[in-house]
Amino acid sequence: MLSKVILQSKIDKVAKYFDLADKIVIVTHTSPDGDAIGSSLGLLHFLETQEKNVHIIVPNSFPDFLRWMSGAKDIIRYDKYSEFAEQLINEADVICCLDFNATSRLEALAKPVLEAPGRKVLIDHHLDPEDFCRVVISYPQISSTSELVFRLICQMGNFDDITREGAECIYTGMMTDTGGFTYNSNSSEIYFIIAELLLKGIDKDEIYRKVYHTYSENRLRLMGYVLYESMVVYPQFRSALICLDAEEQKKFRYVKGDTEGFVNIPLQIKDICFSAFLREDSEKKMIKVSLRSVGTFPCNKIAAEFFNGGGHLNASGGEFYGTMEEAIAQFKRALLKYEGLLLKS
Ligand code: 5GP
Ligand code: MN
Repeated sequence: MLSKVILQSKIDKVAKYFDLADKIVIVTHTSPDGDAIGSSLGLLHFLETQEKNVHIIVPNSFPDFLRWMSGAKDIIRYDKYSEFAEQLINEADVICCLDFNATSRLEALAKPVLEAPGRKVLIDHHLDPEDFCRVVISYPQISSTSELVFRLICQMGNFDDITREGAECIYTGMMTDTGGFTYNSNSSEIYFIIAELLLKGIDKDEIYRKVYHTYSENRLRLMGYVLYESMVVYPQFRSALICLDAEEQKKFRYVKGDTEGFVNIPLQIKDICFSAFLREDSEKKMIKVSLRSVGTFPCNKIAAEFFNGGGHLNASGGEFYGTMEEAIAQFKRALLKYEGLLLKS
């Protein structure tokens, strides 16, 4: 049996909002990942069985390996169709905000969402949610927003309305936010949920292949390059760093998503417990920072203190405004400050 994680008073409110609503908009964070897209589509498929008019709006593009999911092709990009998106947002009776805790994660989409008259519901698993929604379903102990969407639907008494398509999307989000159930995934209830999703007819092995085995040749060559040429290991700090500047990206014809997961690789080295990946983003004129840790080392603290970011204990990120050299120096400052904790973790 699944425990009732979400407070009943929140379930009652959301059920009432959905009941009264005709038009519903779902929004999620910038550069949407598997959990952002999976949870949004999982909720969309459910709401469509309730005969609601539902649209998903995202700030910008998402990776190709998520496009096979049912409904993904109808997701509206705010950076491309802002006028249409704003009309939908303004007319929505309910706006569901999925997989983010701060409106800054919506970038330009934040303003129309904040100004919209519809009732807002937050469904998320990041720490410290901002107070901008009428109902806040925030459970950082849950490993993905997709799992929360599954729990929400079940606690509303609508398990039977989860379709195979919806189940595939929910599974994808649960899988990607736990690195294929390799971290943050020790709760036995995760596997209870997976069993329920399998009973809905999902093919989990096929989903794994569709998400993780669709790389381009360029990505694999880039991976070989960064591991051989760029990765620096700091055994004395149990840490590793990979950097990728704009020139290198050009050389390997980098496209968005090509470096997804690179930051996890150095954690395969024995005794390494903290890994950072720095990528120059020449469009946004900053260095995008991805951080990962194992055990108790709080990489989200480093993200917040050194890189204007945040996130989870073991997976976080941020942005650095400056050159790559300055970003590396900042990373080294973080290592020095956290040396004690790194050696203890
Ligand atoms: P990734 O390294 O996969 O881009 O991000 C991992 C996690 O770090 C995300 O799920 C999110 O929680 C957090 N994160 C990434 N970038 C940022 C950022 O710029 N700001 C904040 N606050 N969190 C971020
Ligand atoms: Mn997530």
